Amino acid sequence: MASLSATLLDSFVGKSVEDLCPLGFGKVSDDHNHCAHFVGHVLKLNSSVTTGLTCAGMVHAGKKHPTAGALIRVNDIYNFCADLDDPNPLGCLAYYTLKSNIGADGLMGTMRQKHVGICFEGHVYNYGNRNDKVRKDKVGDLANLYGKATITRYTMLPMGHTVLTLDEIKGLVPK
Ligand SMILES: [Zn+2]
Repeated sequence: MASLSATLLDSFVGKSVEDLCPLGFGKVSDDHNHCAHFVGHVLKLNSSVTTGLTCAGMVHAGKKHPTAGALIRVNDIYNFCADLDDPNPLGCLAYYTLKSNIGADGLMGTMRQKHVGICFEGHVYNYGNRNDKVRKDKVGDLANLYGKATITRYTMLPMGHTVLTLDEIKGLVPK
């Protein structure tokens, strides 16, 4: 089992959703937003950790390889994790959305303008949906992702997560 490190996270930079998902959900230039999907695979977030729609649910209606799948919605991850005031340099999650997408109850809604990445040692590793590759930004560089109304939020890493290498992610589905 791996632990979060710059070496591990750097190894994902430049990978596309087709490289990442062992279930084959997602194609380069499709209409899906794969930022949560990327975070979900690296941290092994699926039905064994929390509820929410996963790529296994999209591909096999959840009947095959449920624990090889990953959450694919930013709000399902955000609403499961404990809030942080400031990023933890040793690992946390960073989110970008619009203020109107956070309800009075503090939960994130389903607006399309929502983005998540893994924050580590001053960088945010996140799936760039525009060029369909994992990218590495400096903390703060995505603060205007949706224009001036963008808000940034941080949470702790999800309870029960497991850090996986790309080989371990792929290994969850037998060839
Ligand atoms: Zn997947």
